[in-house]
Amino acid sequence: MTTEASTITISCLCETAHQTLPSPTDLSDVTCCGCASCRHLSGQLWTTYTPLASPPSLANLTSYSPSPSTTTYFCSTCGCHLFRRHSDTHEPRWEVTTGTIISSPPIPLPEALTITTTTTHDKPTPTATNEPLSTSLYRLFTPLLSPALSPAPLPPLLHASCHCTRITFTITPPSASSFLPSSPFADLLLPYCRHPPNVTSNPSSLKWWLRDPYLAGTCACRSCRLASGFEAQAWAFVPRFNIHFGPTADPLVTFPRPLLQSYASSPAAGAVREFCPTCGATVFWHDAHRPDLIDVSVGLLCASSDCEGSSPVAAAYPYLYWWTERTSFAEESAAGQSFNAP
Ligand SMILES: [Zn+2]
Ligand SMILES: [Zn+2]
Ligand SMILES: [Zn+2]
Repeated sequence: MTTEASTITISCLCETAHQTLPSPTDLSDVTCCGCASCRHLSGQLWTTYTPLASPPSLANLTSYSPSPSTTTYFCSTCGCHLFRRHSDTHEPRWEVTTGTIISSPPIPLPEALTITTTTTHDKPTPTATNEPLSTSLYRLFTPLLSPALSPAPLPPLLHASCHCTRITFTITPPSASSFLPSSPFADLLLPYCRHPPNVTSNPSSLKWWLRDPYLAGTCACRSCRLASGFEAQAWAFVPRFNIHFGPTADPLVTFPRPLLQSYASSPAAGAVREFCPTCGATVFWHDAHRPDLIDVSVGLLCASSDCEGSSPVAAAYPYLYWWTERTSFAEESAAGQSFNAP
């Protein structure tokens, strides 16, 4: 075995946490969890961690303890989740988020993927592959998001909060103002790599986000992966006027500071990611091209009082229409990742 093959390199989006670590003994040992705690802590539908062989560098990371024996660590600059430490055993156990692994030995994915969430859908059978974890995992997740659930009445408000509850807001059903935003099509609907800009720019100004009632889907772009630390960022597309912070219930006009922390993930496009500076949950994505249509992290949403017991998809249903035909930027799902020579 070469030296390269025995290490992994990880990074967050801003590269503050970039480091090389001894390779885990079994990189295919991935714990995938969609419990309410993981959802509200990450903003995602599922978190994915794999064990580390030794403690990592925690420089410039913020720590948060979702339970007495668990501490998570995220980048203080870009919000990316990186590590989890369990202290319920004699020797602390460390794990790393799979989305941050940018270089690793070849990973035999199947068999060991443990999905610990409850879901009414069948677990898809992993295919034997020799590919980056992100590619394999988002392929496994997407079929779990079925839009074919039976109709249910729309609650008057959809509540959202991060794990530490520093960030709490509500989403209201579509109203007349929900038609006001203008926006290019999302890559989720019309892949940019296969459609010309004069089509994706949405010249007829179709209100594609209004879809029984709000469209939602997953994104596998490099930026989402490295800003969250996980494989597929789940976004709901919600007009700014339907997002309400605080007791006054005024529509979201400006992003509340210092409540939210922002990171300019693509300054040229005016793209900004908002996250909770206390627990690290991803919250919003927005950009200059569609300032009035906001991407909202689906993991924060809770449609019923039984968020704890609900599956990742049921937690936000019936407010969302899941797009399962495609994951946004699926072509980029392994962008920036590479294998060391075996
Ligand atoms: Zn960072
Ligand atoms: Zn993305
Ligand atoms: Zn928080």
